[in-house]
Amino acid sequence: MTSTTAAAKPWRFTSLQEDTVITAAGVAATAVFVAGTAAVFSPLALGLAAGYCALKVGHTYAAMAFRPIRDQALKSMHKSRHYKPVPADSKIVALVAEQSKRLGWAEAPPVYLVDAKTVAKMALPFGLRWLMNNPKTRNTVMPKVFAAVPGMNIIFTTQEALNTMHDEQLAFITAHEMSHLKKEALSLPVFVKAAKQRLTQGLGGLVLIGGGLALAGVSVPLFTGGAIVAMVGLVGATVAAGVINNIGVRTYERRADRNGLYLNQAEATLANSVESFKAARSVFEKLHDKALWAAKKELLLTEIFLTHPSQRRRDIALKRSFAHVVNHIDPNADAKVLLREMDQVQKPAFNGWFNG
Ligand SMILES: [Zn+2]
Repeated sequence: MTSTTAAAKPWRFTSLQEDTVITAAGVAATAVFVAGTAAVFSPLALGLAAGYCALKVGHTYAAMAFRPIRDQALKSMHKSRHYKPVPADSKIVALVAEQSKRLGWAEAPPVYLVDAKTVAKMALPFGLRWLMNNPKTRNTVMPKVFAAVPGMNIIFTTQEALNTMHDEQLAFITAHEMSHLKKEALSLPVFVKAAKQRLTQGLGGLVLIGGGLALAGVSVPLFTGGAIVAMVGLVGATVAAGVINNIGVRTYERRADRNGLYLNQAEATLANSVESFKAARSVFEKLHDKALWAAKKELLLTEIFLTHPSQRRRDIALKRSFAHVVNHIDPNADAKVLLREMDQVQKPAFNGWFNG
């Protein structure tokens, strides 16, 4: 048995190689986008679109890179009442403080509550946000909202989620979210995601600009063979950037589960690892969502469009992480036996997708 003060901990965060691959995918997508745009539209439209994309991406990235801008963004969100601090006597505040101490952080990240309107803004594209006005959708989604914003070093959730989760579940969730915050490990994929969103918006903008130019009588060679190939290339590039970004984010999710498994222990012991694993599993079961996704089977085809692994894949990865953590604590421990025992007590039912 060793305690958390042991020198080597089983943390794992993104490697430089992975970040490079994800960034390269974003850059390649941008290059294809710019080349395709040049083939379709006039230099004027290209300049406008490129300027717009650069401005938006720059804004997102700057907010993450520079603290004053980040703080300003946070303040403006407070002003518009999107983020409300959780009450100081809330259980989650104590959990975050305790886990911050374990991580050796001087300051615990603040936890904020968001309302249904804000969740809709964050999760749904403009034009589909009305979906959250449906009480059934709201009741399904709101108890499951937990997120870390590495760029702002904050955690946010909803009152409904705090009312729903037990203390043990909450402890694993905060450990998972704080793993996302550690070293601001998620800033790169978030940047790529932002780039991809801007590219998609830029593409829409280009179509509008092209249409406008065509209406104004300016010749836009939209229907030539080359232009159609270029348009398909543009759409393909934005989708490819999204898919590769999702692969990266799913990797980080599995790691956050592994780090959470470990961080959710005051003292790293076999017994605590078992408890931590059980808490993680019960969180996955609670978060899974039958209603949100039509696809109930693990089809790679649908997973490539998701940022979070399916419940079953997450459970498989969690078992591997459990073995890693347990063998770190005691090299002679047999994780398989411990896992089999847990499966016998309560094997989770896999029947859906979730986001968390
Ligand atoms: Zn996560």
